Amino acid sequence: MVSFGDQEEGGVVLIKVSNISKTFGGLKALDEISFHVEKGQIVGFLGANGAGKTTTMDIICGCLGSDTGSVSVSGIDVLAEPVLAKKKIGYLPDEPPIHHDMLVKEFIKYVAKVRSVPKNILDERVSEVIEKLSLNSMEDRLIGNLSKGYKQRVGLAQALVHKPEVLVLDEPTEGLDPKQIVQIRELILSLKGEHTILFSSHILTEVESLCDKLIIVDQGRVIEQGSYGSILSKFNQKHQYSLEVRQGASKLEGELRSLEGLTLVRPNSSEDPTIEFSVEDPELIDSVASSVLKGGYGMVQLARKKASLEDVFFKLTN
Ligand code: ATP
Repeated sequence: MVSFGDQEEGGVVLIKVSNISKTFGGLKALDEISFHVEKGQIVGFLGANGAGKTTTMDIICGCLGSDTGSVSVSGIDVLAEPVLAKKKIGYLPDEPPIHHDMLVKEFIKYVAKVRSVPKNILDERVSEVIEKLSLNSMEDRLIGNLSKGYKQRVGLAQALVHKPEVLVLDEPTEGLDPKQIVQIRELILSLKGEHTILFSSHILTEVESLCDKLIIVDQGRVIEQGSYGSILSKFNQKHQYSLEVRQGASKLEGELRSLEGLTLVRPNSSEDPTIEFSVEDPELIDSVASSVLKGGYGMVQLARKKASLEDVFFKLTN
């Protein structure tokens, strides 16, 4: 069945993954994975090595079948109509599918033909992609002789040349130097609007800066998903604080223990001037501050601790 994407609350869904599972021999690589990506979004697919990112992406792009579940792209069932679905997808796998013994422009033109770009706009389309990926100075170079960053751009060119609605990028910045990482990141941002993008990474700062939504996978399961802000706020709901005093931290800790609604995070050693605690009601902080002042402990610092994406990731995957 062909339609123009499934309308769900919030927006048009262009990638819909429903309960997919995949087993290799005795290993369950994917266990009932479900998520969706809406039109115009950049979604980060985050997980440690072996979490199941590549397997999921291979299934979305029709390169691998799942044991159970279904995937649709732009409303087309990938398993039932792979040829039609693939026209809507540009895929950059973890190993870019590029021919090392071809010239850059020659290769992009070849992919455009394979991807059925109409003859009358083929040259124009190839030039457009070369321009977009800043490959102009490299167009007559042998792909095998390019740096890794430029090879990655050629990999992106082959994913883009047929103007797919959906781009799936498997760790696009893996193995690049810091300057190249920034360039590829900027490139991905510049593709937003024209394409809906799902990209995988295990670099947390990368997904933080690029994505509208994050999907965190661990051992073949989706363990968290939502916007960066919503995931963090979930973890920051409990108000955690760190308190540093000049003297008597252990004694003060004993006093704080008696405050209802306050939980100490870890016992304080006699030498450590810092106490970590969480409170259910942030107004309880006034009582904490007053205990410090009344007892003459000497306030050095009282600060709210906020979980970072790194904290959340480690908490979820450990
Ligand atoms: P990485 O970040 O290292 O690329 P990943 O999150 O992409 O990891 P996958 O490559 O999807 O993870 O692998 C998930 C699990 O499935 C791993 O344990 C992996 O060894 C296993 N696996 C993947 N492909 C195959 C295969 N063809 N045969 C056997 N096992 C496989």
